[in-house]
Amino acid sequence: MENMQAIRVKEFGGPEVMRLEDVPTPKPGPGEVLVKIKAAGVNPVDTYLRTGAYAYKPVLPYTPGADAGGVVESAGEGVKGLKSGSRVYLAGSLTGTYAESALCKVSQVHPIPPHISFSQAAGINVPYATAYRALNQRMSCRAGETMLVHGASGGVGVAAVQLGHAMGLCVIGTASTERGRALVKEAGAHHVSDHSKTGYLTEVLNMTGGKGVDVILEMLANVNLNNDLTILARGGRIVVIGSRGKIEIDPRLAMGQDANIHGMSLMTVPEDDLYSIHCALVAGLENKTLNPVVGVEIPLKDAARAHIDIMKPGSYGKIVLIP
Ligand code: NAP
Repeated sequence: MENMQAIRVKEFGGPEVMRLEDVPTPKPGPGEVLVKIKAAGVNPVDTYLRTGAYAYKPVLPYTPGADAGGVVESAGEGVKGLKSGSRVYLAGSLTGTYAESALCKVSQVHPIPPHISFSQAAGINVPYATAYRALNQRMSCRAGETMLVHGASGGVGVAAVQLGHAMGLCVIGTASTERGRALVKEAGAHHVSDHSKTGYLTEVLNMTGGKGVDVILEMLANVNLNNDLTILARGGRIVVIGSRGKIEIDPRLAMGQDANIHGMSLMTVPEDDLYSIHCALVAGLENKTLNPVVGVEIPLKDAARAHIDIMKPGSYGKIVLIP
């Protein structure tokens, strides 16, 4: 049987538990597709899963990763419309994407247009699906509204800024570095602010002429949720996308503004909503309103370094692994 290289996690723990090993290359069964991985996307959730302390625990041993760009190698019985050699992005897989190949259900494989590189394709699934779900399916954003992307320089943030700009929202994005803020501006934000600077919330409020923001996409709720309530317009809504701990909030701030606080998880999106999300993302890639930004490419064997780097401040688009 032919072998491939893949990152394997045999015990939960720190980044060092990820090791590159030879494993058998999977064969596609009925309704399955084997994809040769050219680049794999790294997401914060990959690090949470690796520790074993997340709500969902993978079965050991496993290969991490839900995102990738690559080409179809072979397809199982009954698969139509995906030819060997087709350029695709993956929205999850059956065997993990930190590998030379991944076995997928046909519904996890989506086409990419010629101008999108494989590394860009590795930055589509989790970031763009999350941002699309937040803006459209959870917040029902409307053109003309003001949206704060609180943490706009990383994977989800850049995606949200591009989507918001394309939809006609007034977009404010935050980042802690000058390089990050330049990226957020390039992605289409009308205003940028620095979430590491004292007084930036007043700056954000002033950007709205004192009215407050209609929608907040929150990447670090355990730090920001109470503050968000102080810069919300009346009837405004917050969607919690990221949180790494607990926070005490003053509910009176929510009462005074008729505020709405929502949560969301990409892991619980129903199949039909997921189908709709990927149809929209494919269209956005084709019409060039969506353009994933790759900050750094790291060899697959150094996946541990990618897991350390993604948890550091100073985000700049996506970190991708190259097999
Ligand atoms: P990422 O690429 O690592 O980016 C992290 C972002 O958070 C950066 O823009 C970073 O800005 C920003 N940030 C850091 N400190 C902040 C602060 N005090 N206030 C506001 N923003 C701050 O991660 P990502 O892929 O964009 O994901 C963002 C978060 O959402 C993560 O916690 C992730 O686990 C979560 N997430 C959740 C879902 C879901 O289904 N709910 C899906 C995807 C992601 P600087 O680096 O410039 O400081």
